[in-house]
Order: sequence, then structure tokens, then C-alpha cells
Amino acid sequence: MMFCRLKDNFLLRGWERLPYALVNSQTGGVSFLNAETWDALTLCDGTVDVSLPVIPAKIRSIIAEAERQGLIEKCESGHGLTEIQKYRKYPARYIKQAHWSITGRCNYRCKHCFMSAPSAKFGEMTHAQIMDIVNQLADCGVMNVSLTGGEPLIRDDFMEIVDALLECGIHIRTIYSNGALVNEKLLRELDARNIHPEFNMSYDGKGWHGRTARRKALVTRNQRSRRGSRPGICTLQGLRLPNRSRDVHSPAQQTHPQRKHPAHGQLRCQKRKD
Ligand code: SF4
Repeated sequence: MMFCRLKDNFLLRGWERLPYALVNSQTGGVSFLNAETWDALTLCDGTVDVSLPVIPAKIRSIIAEAERQGLIEKCESGHGLTEIQKYRKYPARYIKQAHWSITGRCNYRCKHCFMSAPSAKFGEMTHAQIMDIVNQLADCGVMNVSLTGGEPLIRDDFMEIVDALLECGIHIRTIYSNGALVNEKLLRELDARNIHPEFNMSYDGKGWHGRTARRKALVTRNQRSRRGSRPGICTLQGLRLPNRSRDVHSPAQQTHPQRKHPAHGQLRCQKRKD
């Protein structure tokens, strides 16, 4: 006799028009499956003896391959899937990723800010509203989010938001930040939850803020913001975390790879000389 189950980080999911998928809740990866693979993996729920001759050889070979790839593991009879792993089909189309602004507030005040931070031009969500949105994302079957603002790390309940998303099986792929609040404590807390999101840090370059800020006071503040992003970058450089967490890109460069803006140079964890 041989019983198998999906490893704890794998979830069975489906959406309208894409009914069969395997989700890796640690990485946010979604694999859409053909019917045979789906049939094989659904037998790996700890209740079916997958060595029975009645199970086609092709299905047994898929199960063996799934074990080799680390998707499933042998288990005791009855050691079934957890509730969150069990198949769930969402009454919605598949959405690859949600880009979510969790606050309009910021610790800086750049003139070019479309959010008009730090005053939260579009209002600020309460904790209860944020939790409600987490549930709505989960109900729609969103598996990946990126968190932005304003400055997302300015929210006192930031780690509670992270935990709520993780509890719903939603992976945090990217955190957009100006870098000033990226410190070792934050990265350790994320690491303790076994998540290593990419940090996209805005860093507009020497002199650029001086041309865009409205008043001298703002120039000074924004020059401070330029320096302020360095602690976050240095923190990312200094910690031995997976590479994905240590890549730092200028948002402008990421969205427009060909763009040669004098104020937005490439930034990949390297120190400037000025
Ligand atoms: S750092 Fe970003 S969110 Fe904050 S004020 Fe500047 S542009 Fe706006």
C-alpha cells in the first residue's frame, strides 16, 4: 500500500475557463494542469492507495514524477490535505497579480507624486477596510499581490496585512518603497514567514528632486529622501537573503526598459560614489 499527499505549500485551485491548477503558496507560482496530471494529483490526498492495480500505469508514473519533483510526499493513510489545500474553484476569471496601494500616506513629499503624498489625497483605508479587501482578493482567487502606496511600510498594521494575506494563501511578490523604512527588523520578520518579496525602491538621483520640488524646504527634504533610501538598499545588500529580495530597480527603468532618463539610473545594489 502507498498513500501520498500534496506537500503543505501546494494548493488545488481553479478559475473560470481554467479549472485545474496547482498553486505554490510559498512562491505564488501557478501551474495549469492537463486532465491526466490533475487526476493523478487529486489522488494524492492521503486517502487513496495509489499502488492499486486499478490505477492506470500512466497515472502512477505521473505520481512518481510528482514525488521526484517534490510536489508530493508519501504519508500515512488518512493524513489528508489541510482545508486550505483542498480544491477550490473561484467564480471569477484568473488574475495573475493585483497591484494594491494600501495607503496614500508617505514619509516623503515629492512634487511629482501622483498620490499627492503625504496627505493621502484619495483618503486612507481603515484596518477593517483593509482586511475586508484581503478577503475580497481571496474570494476572487487572487494568488499574488504587489504592495505599494504612498509608502506601504508607513502603515502600523503592515505586518498584520502581510499575515492576513498569507493566511489566505496570497503571495506577496513585490513591495514598492522609497527604502527609508526598509530595515533589518522588517526583512527578518518577512524571512521568519518564509517570504522574500522583491523590493522596488524609488531613487530619483542627485539633483533630480531639486528640479521638481516646489520650495526650498522641500528640496532639502527630498535630498534627505535620496539619502534616506540608502539604509534600505544597504540593508538589502548586507543580509544574506535570496537574490530576489536583493534586486533593486528604478521603477521607471522597470516599466520602460529603453528609457534613458538622466535622473533614473540603473540601481542593482551598488553603492554610488557621490
Ligand atoms: S516617495 Fe513615492 S509615494 Fe512618497 S511622496 Fe515620493 S513619489 Fe510619493
